[in-house]
Amino acid sequence: MRNKLQEVNVADQGIPEANPNVSLDLIKIAYEFYRRGWLFGTSGNLSALISRSPFVLSITGSGLDKSKLNLRDIVYVDDLGKVLSGDRKPSSETLLHVAAIKQRNCSAVFHTHSIWGTILSKKYLKDGGFQIEGYEMLKGLENVVSHDHAEWVPVLENSQDMRSLSVKVNDLLENDKNLHCFLLSGHGLYVWGNNVETAKRHTEVLEFLLEVHGRLGNSDI
Ligand SMILES: [Zn+2]
Repeated sequence: MRNKLQEVNVADQGIPEANPNVSLDLIKIAYEFYRRGWLFGTSGNLSALISRSPFVLSITGSGLDKSKLNLRDIVYVDDLGKVLSGDRKPSSETLLHVAAIKQRNCSAVFHTHSIWGTILSKKYLKDGGFQIEGYEMLKGLENVVSHDHAEWVPVLENSQDMRSLSVKVNDLLENDKNLHCFLLSGHGLYVWGNNVETAKRHTEVLEFLLEVHGRLGNSDI
């Protein structure tokens, strides 16, 4: 089946051919995350790197229902967030994805708006973050080999100024190479990975841990 992305001739611009497989991965994962309640109400965005040089990132379009994305809803952007191909407006948070991709030298960034991520980000903003430790599930994170691990989850203050926020994200990731994620206060979670599978696993692991941490914080167990 032909689709809009496949029809876009980007070769003349020195941009790699559109890759519908990557777009299909993002669409499928967006649907799964929506069903888990992490991308309700058009929230959140997913991206996957197509090429590092020249920099080409595929990312979900802005303001779209994540339960019904199609190939036309994925756009290609450069590292300034400029659209290279596709009809949709890229996510307003594109620059945060770019900052994480460049700082971590990774290939996929997933951003969710889950209930537990939102609650914990509000609770711990004043502390700059919080620690999650002692769970077997932590071993699902890259380079973590034991439950005896303390994972720092930093919280940055939310902003609508994506340029300044992307500088803060860049500084945060540059100063702590052990991070697997960060939260924006009252907003949501950012997670990354060397490929879409790893970013998906990291998102599942961290959303699980955020919920456990959040629920235990309010119980006598
Ligand atoms: Zn968001």
